[in-house]
Amino acid sequence: MAFRTVASIVSGQPTQDGNGVPLRRLVPGRGQRGGDAFRAMDPFLLMDHFGPLHIPPGSDAGFPPHPHRGFQTLTYLIQGAFRHRDSTGGHGTLRPGGAQLMTAGSGIVHEEMPVPEQQESGGPIEGVQLWINLPKADKGMRPGYEDLQPEAMPWRAFEGGRIRGLAGTWLGVEGPARTPAAIAYAHLELEPGGAFEHLLPEGWTVAVVTLHGEVEIQGRPVPEGSVAVLGEGAGLRVSSGAGASFMVLAGRPLQEPIAHYGPFVMNTVEEIEQALLDYQEGRMGRLA
Ligand code: MN
Repeated sequence: MAFRTVASIVSGQPTQDGNGVPLRRLVPGRGQRGGDAFRAMDPFLLMDHFGPLHIPPGSDAGFPPHPHRGFQTLTYLIQGAFRHRDSTGGHGTLRPGGAQLMTAGSGIVHEEMPVPEQQESGGPIEGVQLWINLPKADKGMRPGYEDLQPEAMPWRAFEGGRIRGLAGTWLGVEGPARTPAAIAYAHLELEPGGAFEHLLPEGWTVAVVTLHGEVEIQGRPVPEGSVAVLGEGAGLRVSSGAGASFMVLAGRPLQEPIAHYGPFVMNTVEEIEQALLDYQEGRMGRLA
């Protein structure tokens, strides 16, 4: 089989968001102008790896109310607990191994904050938030929120490692996240010397994001905390000499224009201006 080689590697940039939550932001097109910045990972927009960090007691580290329009977020928790509330009445508590799929669609206001016990006593937190673009035809879809419990996507062992499939089919089992954009998304852990092979549709975007440890793809090392965008092919092969934890993202490119401003991702500048106006005038709703 012809395995995909590495087309580019970009290091995650340390930054902060929300109430000073430190995170590593992984955007392959960083530095490119406008919508081109998102071309390399289409239909994905960005990925934030927050933590691992220890929240001190009394901390309000989290993401207070803010809007979104035009895409979906899939937030996967590795350690700790987080609670979500949004303007559609959606709410839930995220536990390790679980995820939340939030559809911003035509507009939503949400917050993501530590659970009260964690705010009182402190504790560890680590997770990954992926922004998935919506096709032009679905940007105005009804906003919504769905909890994906850890039980719906258990770890599955293979020789040399284990995998948790969040979306798409992995080792014959389909992950629970359903999105208008055609995607596959999984968390993998490799033991030292372990390797993983998988077939993905030709023509799809495929990227590997290393959370902990280093992997190797067709002879090219991918350091911890970076995103490797892969070239053409069908086969994916990832190995690790010392063991690693990483995410695999794959999706059919939308190939549509992208206009992006902060929490809004649309197709044109006019639609961004409309989004700002709609938010300012309260048309994306409020948190109860
Ligand atoms: Mn948000």
